[in-house]
Amino acid sequence: MEEIIALAKRRGFIYQGSEIYGGLAGTWDYGHLGLALKNNIKNTWWKRFVLDRDDMYGVDAAILMNQNVWKASGHVAGFFDPLVDDVKTNKRYRADHLLLEAGVDIKGMSLKEMDVVIKEKGVKSPEGNALGDVRQFKMMFTTHVGANQDEDSVSYLRPETAQGMFVNFKNTLDSFHPKLPFGMAQIGKAFRNEIAPRDFIFRTREFEQMEIEYFVNPNSWEESFEHFRQQVHAFADDVGLTPSKIHDVEIAPEDLAHYSKRTIDFEFDFPMGQKELYGLAYRTDFDLKSHSDASGTDLSFFDEETKERFIPHCIEPSLGVDRTVLAVLTDAYSEDEVGGEKRVYLKLSPKIAPVLIAVSPLLKNKPQLVEKAREVYSILKKEFPGRIMFDDNGNIGKRYRRQDEIGTPYCITVDFDTVEKDQTMTLRYRDSATQDRLSIEQIIDSVKKAI
Ligand code: ATP
Repeated sequence: MEEIIALAKRRGFIYQGSEIYGGLAGTWDYGHLGLALKNNIKNTWWKRFVLDRDDMYGVDAAILMNQNVWKASGHVAGFFDPLVDDVKTNKRYRADHLLLEAGVDIKGMSLKEMDVVIKEKGVKSPEGNALGDVRQFKMMFTTHVGANQDEDSVSYLRPETAQGMFVNFKNTLDSFHPKLPFGMAQIGKAFRNEIAPRDFIFRTREFEQMEIEYFVNPNSWEESFEHFRQQVHAFADDVGLTPSKIHDVEIAPEDLAHYSKRTIDFEFDFPMGQKELYGLAYRTDFDLKSHSDASGTDLSFFDEETKERFIPHCIEPSLGVDRTVLAVLTDAYSEDEVGGEKRVYLKLSPKIAPVLIAVSPLLKNKPQLVEKAREVYSILKKEFPGRIMFDDNGNIGKRYRRQDEIGTPYCITVDFDTVEKDQTMTLRYRDSATQDRLSIEQIIDSVKKAI
């Protein structure tokens, strides 16, 4: 992990948030290449789950919402983590995490039970000190909207994007008149005041989610649940994650969230262990029903065919953008030896690599080579917008190493034969470090097949 964090910083993927002021815990800033990677991941998701389908409607809801949304959703009353203090250092920890690390099965445990077990077993803080009482820690960031700082002006930074879709359910029905089943999709920021943000971008206080609320007739929820289970795996495949590193974990009934009748966590083999990457939940009609009751707006659906009126049930695949970035980076990180020297490279899928092709002149002080390389660069830029880099820094060996480190799958080098002989150029493949001599048309064809 340390090496990946260092590479991410060195090469312009991810920096510590507010770094020059000593940082702000749980926040990270994406640089030029990290942003490109993130955008490619989001576009891949949007393509699979929205553009390639006929039953999905996009939304981009406001982050700040009426406080009653969070009362109806159950977050104001129940979005807490169990918190425990080290009595000596006053450092705060997640009680459930400490218990898990101490080998305690915490399934279905209440706050009180956690407290009892910590005391009985004498579970200590990571510094080896005694722990205080287990308490609830509110995870939503509170703010005030407008000039008054009173109860009525309270709002929250949304802890999930999901509610932005439930509150627009009726708008979507009225605008598009979809038949069931249909879904709403959203990509956006979510905020949680995590007690212990850690493991780089795995657990942060500000992150992005890609979520779908898929509305179904309750008779057929199982079919849609299975469909999205497979779609989540297909998406993981799209972004190049190793299938054997993803594990479907069925959540035990006593551990399900208050709104869920079935949940699968998709866990991934991260460097720090097998941890949740994505979730898939059957949320029943909990959300639409709660919002119907609380807002007084009828959120039922009338089925023209069966003449039935009912509140649809909901299947929710919820995917973290940042956890995808981390999974992709840790899965792609590779080391080998080329020409007797150690090499570090990112084996990123050509579909999401920030730079798809780097174009270089063999020598940067030969105008005819630079001119030809620029021409090749312009042609490729039209074919693969936003995914081509012109690189004439340092010598060719150094360029390859730098491109390997940022995961560029293809490098093209324009040399004297290109301009003087046959217009062909070398295409170097990142993973094998081997080369072919090809025309620009052949290169475009073969790269198009890979993405
Ligand atoms: P965890 O148990 O790890 O806290 P969760 O079960 O609370 O996660 P969900 O509420 O199901 O997570 O959120 C859906 C997805 O959002 C997660 O699968 C993950 O990809 C992402 N996510 C949740 N919390 C964070 C966070 N603090 N930092 C980064 N991504 C997150």
